[in-house]
Amino acid sequence: MTTIEITNLRKEYSVKGGVEVAVDGIDLAIEDGEFVSIVGPSGCGKTTTLRCLAGLEIPTAGTIAFDSVDVTDVPANKRGLAMMFQDIALYPHMTVRENIAYPLKIDGVDREQRHETAREAAAVMQIEELLDKYPGDLSGGQQQRTGLARTIVQDPLAFLMDEPLSDLDAQLKVEMRREIQRVHKRLGKPTIYVTHDQEEALTMSDRVVVLNDGRIEQVGTTGEVYNRPANTFVATFIGNPSINYLDGTVASASEEQATVSVHGAEFRFRTDGPTSLEAGATVTVGIRPQHISVTSDATDGHLAGQLSLFEPVDDRAHTTIRGPDGELRAVTSANARLREGDDVGLVVDEDNVLLFDDETGELLGRSGETEVVSQRG
Ligand code: ADP
Ligand code: MG
Repeated sequence: MTTIEITNLRKEYSVKGGVEVAVDGIDLAIEDGEFVSIVGPSGCGKTTTLRCLAGLEIPTAGTIAFDSVDVTDVPANKRGLAMMFQDIALYPHMTVRENIAYPLKIDGVDREQRHETAREAAAVMQIEELLDKYPGDLSGGQQQRTGLARTIVQDPLAFLMDEPLSDLDAQLKVEMRREIQRVHKRLGKPTIYVTHDQEEALTMSDRVVVLNDGRIEQVGTTGEVYNRPANTFVATFIGNPSINYLDGTVASASEEQATVSVHGAEFRFRTDGPTSLEAGATVTVGIRPQHISVTSDATDGHLAGQLSLFEPVDDRAHTTIRGPDGELRAVTSANARLREGDDVGLVVDEDNVLLFDDETGELLGRSGETEVVSQRG
């Protein structure tokens, strides 16, 4: 059993002319057996966080504990973690068996024992028939499986993975994602998976940590970060195509509900008590493309616009509509009878409208929810 606790982690690097704050006060607790992804744009501090966890970087401040034991000063090779990076770096002159068994050789495990453990790990990864081959004989996917098997033999307390799939083509990526999840389910060890790819994070994880500029913006399940993004940064980063933002005005606000008007369309939010929203105030309204349907009747729907782009993806199509506030994106059926240039109506899912503070970007509420909206005033 292992739980991992990161408390107030900070990492600064000295750079020419000052310090670069890579990680700026991160608190995160990872449960035993949990799969947690750390996701965020390039340079937000994902790798630095993982390297501090691994013991490859010394934090400037803060602590790291495994099962409530402080390991902040424990060297990397004594932490009992397995790491997997983008560059899996197999040794070309060693067989698959020797590559997988290599961490055990370093630990002084005898030959027979380490080859047996390597065979078991290869069986988990379904590559037993490759044990006598050399890395040069393997496909990209087989090399990845070998790399993963090499981390398994170490019987680690936890797995740390830093964008291990970013070099793979799309199909192999999907296959390896499933493979990593399968291994995770089977071994039940906490896994921390770093990626800049929000789709990867959403599909694989029990919880997603959204990082921005060295700080955590939100920690939540896939459903939470998608449906209740804490702020406009998370709302924009999570979800594809990207969320739409419209300028809204509070039309009325009472202790029961607020009505927000967007170019003549009105959306209702429950307030359940005193609210800081005031009639006339401006707010940012967020609507995901998945929550807008496009109709060929321009007089039908909450908003009107003109279809400027229709891009079939699979059974769905991504559309771009020139709307009242600039361009809007909507996801429709690929069979929708829509043509570029058509005047269209946009029907918004009234239960899935997000309301954000137009200055701070914080989430104020979501329509169709029985939660308090903006009770800060
Ligand atoms: P990510 O993995 O999210 O792309 P990193 O953790 O690699 O981000 O980097 C976070 C920030 O710290 C970036 O601004 C990066 O330039 C800086 N940084 C990372 N490593 C070093 C280093 N060794 N020296 C100086 N700055 C660094
Ligand atoms: Mg990185």
